[in-house]
Amino acid sequence: MKNIVVTGGCGFIGSNFIFDQLNNYNSNIINIDSLTYSSNKQSDDLFKKTSRYSFIEGDIVDYKLILSVFKKFKPDLIINFAAETHVDRSIEEPDEFLKTNLLGTLNLLKIALSYFQENNSFRFIQISTDEVFGSLSPNDKAFTESHPYRPNSPYSASKAGADHLVRSFNKTYKLPTIITNCSNNYGPFQFPEKLIPLMIANSLDEKQLPVYGDGKNIRDWLHVKDHCNALGLIINSGKFGETYNIGSSNEIKNIDIIKNICGYLDHKRPRKNKKSYKDLITFVEDRPGHDLRYSIDSSKIINELNWKSEIPFKTGLIETVNWYLENEDWWRNIQKMHYNQERLGLNHNF
Ligand code: NAD
Repeated sequence: MKNIVVTGGCGFIGSNFIFDQLNNYNSNIINIDSLTYSSNKQSDDLFKKTSRYSFIEGDIVDYKLILSVFKKFKPDLIINFAAETHVDRSIEEPDEFLKTNLLGTLNLLKIALSYFQENNSFRFIQISTDEVFGSLSPNDKAFTESHPYRPNSPYSASKAGADHLVRSFNKTYKLPTIITNCSNNYGPFQFPEKLIPLMIANSLDEKQLPVYGDGKNIRDWLHVKDHCNALGLIINSGKFGETYNIGSSNEIKNIDIIKNICGYLDHKRPRKNKKSYKDLITFVEDRPGHDLRYSIDSSKIINELNWKSEIPFKTGLIETVNWYLENEDWWRNIQKMHYNQERLGLNHNF
């Protein structure tokens, strides 16, 4: 049985991770989340049904609060999902990204280090992204763990900076750390400003489906459940001081994903006017600094930890669209509570 501090556990991946840990492991979870716009409290209400879960509303930048959680809960590990994550928002207002992603991580590291000095089985897991590696050309080889960091957006720069800090705490102070660099996730509970949920929501509302540039940007899509399986293995068998890439070699152009969603909805939820949802696709001015292609080489985690992604993209996408159709109340509540309808139509994170 492990005591795990999860930060950002009311977000998309964090909430799926907690769900996986409560269902498939014996862990006790303490979730610290500051409940920013991208969080959802509804998954937290589900978790509360088990006594192995507790929640603290708080900011990872808050030294006193995090220290008090460590003292009270005595964690075996911390897994840091908390972050500002929307690239478009980072272009408009980078400050909050630096505060949470960089200073928040530094705060966690400092507290973790002093705690580690008295609890030497403790470890620190940092959830990062493939975006820190920058962009690939169509024929470039996939990112390996030794690929140089070349972030192109304030979001990826803030994540890259955090990764460097984590590495430095391992090299300088011997804090047992692991960094994971994962590709684009999809699945249930993703905030409806990101590509897949945005396209589903806009289709159902008969709104434009905005596509940046020519839509040919390529991402390597991984189902969030596969990501959580990988994290379970890393928690139990990952090597300290190492980084692990996690992806499913599933490269798809954004425009093809959108067409797939439209095609499935045409059959599952036909429009009243009998036209295809594809007619709603609208090409808009490209995002500045928009990375062309990400591709992840996951050989290390496959060979060393015996992980593999199990959910084929076609099946996962259909399941995901069905989830959003069946849980319309969930995302409509979020839309109502949190955000500015004008942004909804135009911003998305690829
Ligand atoms: P998300 O935006 O859905 O959730 C982030 C969560 O962090 C929210 O619940 C938010 O309230 C919380 N948070 C933000 N600032 C905080 C602060 N200062 N203190 C405490 N909590 C705070 O993000 P996500 O998509 O679940 O991503 C989780 C992590 O995984 C991030 O670190 C992200 O960089 C990384 N990642 C995401 C993807 C992806 O495709 N979504 C891919 C690779 C890596």
